[in-house]
Amino acid sequence: MVREISDSAPPTDRPLCPVCLTRPRGKDRRVKTCGEKECAYTYREKRYRDAYPNSRPGHGHGYGPPIRRGRPVPGLAVPTPAPTADPATAAPAPPSEPTGSSDPTPTATDVLRTPFPEATASIWTLTNVTPPSPTTGRYQKILLWPDTHLPFQDDRAVALAFKVLEHVNPDILVLLGDMIDCGGFSRFAHNTIDARMHFQTELDTWEALATLLHDRTPGAQRFFIRGNHEARIEKWLYGQPHLQTLRALNLGTSLNLANFGFDPAAHEEISLAQGSLTVTHGTRLGGSFAGLAARMEMATYGTSGVSGHTHRLCKYLQRDKAGLRVWIEAGHLAKNPPHYAPKTQNWQQGLVVGEVSDSGNDFELEPIPFRLSYRCRIGNVELSA
Ligand SMILES: [Zn+2]
Ligand SMILES: [Zn+2]
Repeated sequence: MVREISDSAPPTDRPLCPVCLTRPRGKDRRVKTCGEKECAYTYREKRYRDAYPNSRPGHGHGYGPPIRRGRPVPGLAVPTPAPTADPATAAPAPPSEPTGSSDPTPTATDVLRTPFPEATASIWTLTNVTPPSPTTGRYQKILLWPDTHLPFQDDRAVALAFKVLEHVNPDILVLLGDMIDCGGFSRFAHNTIDARMHFQTELDTWEALATLLHDRTPGAQRFFIRGNHEARIEKWLYGQPHLQTLRALNLGTSLNLANFGFDPAAHEEISLAQGSLTVTHGTRLGGSFAGLAARMEMATYGTSGVSGHTHRLCKYLQRDKAGLRVWIEAGHLAKNPPHYAPKTQNWQQGLVVGEVSDSGNDFELEPIPFRLSYRCRIGNVELSA
C-alpha cells in the first residue's frame, strides 16, 4: 500500500489541541492533547522546564513568565527539528514557533524581560538618569546657620559648623534667628544673677561669633533673620515707651550688623530663587517631632522654605498640582539639654547647605545633621570637631 503525501506544508485543517490550542505535530492527525509527547505544547513546556528546573510542572502555571496558550513566547526560541532525508515524513514546524529570532538559545534575562518589556525599559531609564547638578555660575552656594542661642551655644557644634562653613565657602550666609538668647528679657522665670543673662554678655559673645563669620565668608552676602528670642527686646520695649526710639536698642544697631558685613536690617523673612524659597525663623513648633512644623510653615507660606525655631532637623517634600515643594527644619547649635531644663530635648544639631539659582526658581538644599560625636558628612567629605 502506497501513501502519497504531495504537500509537505502543515495542513490547515488539522484540529487544535483542546488544551494548548496548538496543532499537534507528527504523522498522526488525530486530535491530541498536550499530554501527548508529540504535542507542540508539550515540547515547549519541556524546554521551559529545562530552562527553569525549579519551576513547577504544569501547563504554564509554574514560576517565572507565564506561557500563554496557543501563543509563542517571544525570545524563547525553540529550534526547529532537523530536516530528515525524506520530506514526506518530515514533521512540519509548529505554527506557533517564533521565526525571527537570531539567537536560538535565549538567556534567562531574555525570557524574564519578555512579558514586561515596558517595565524593563523604565528600569533602564531610571538607572541611566543623570540628575541635574546645579554647579554652573548661575547658582550661588548658600549656608543657613540655625538657632545658636548665644551665650548658651554648644561650642563643639559651633566649631563643626565653622568646618562646614570653610568647606562650603558659601556665596550667601543666612543666620536663621535666635542667635542670641536674650534670657534677661524673658518673661519666664530666670536667674538674673547668672552673667549669661546679662545683655552685654550676649553682645560680647555675638561680636566674637560675628567677627569669625565675617572673616570666614569673604565676599559673601550675609543676612540676619530675627528670631523670637531677639524679638524679646522689642517686646520688652513695649513697656518702656520712652526707650522705644533709642537707636542703640534697635536690633540691627545693637548687634552692629553692618559692621560685620550683614544687611543692616534684621529681617523677618527673605525670599530667594525668584520667590520660590522662603527663609524665616519660623513660628510653629509642631509638637515634639521633626516634620510637623515644616508642614505647617509650608501651609502658611505656600512656598518652599527653610526655618529654624524648632531646633529639629528634617526635610519635608510635597508634590501637588502646584509642583514640588520642600520645607526644611534647620536644626540648632545650642546646648542640649538647655540651661532652663534638666532633660535632654528631642532636638537635632546641624545646619543647611545648598545652592540657589540667582536667575530662576531653582535650588537644591540639604540638611546636614551633626552626630553626637560632632561629626558630619557632606558628600564624600567627613568633617569633625
Ligand atoms: Zn525660636
Ligand atoms: Zn531657638
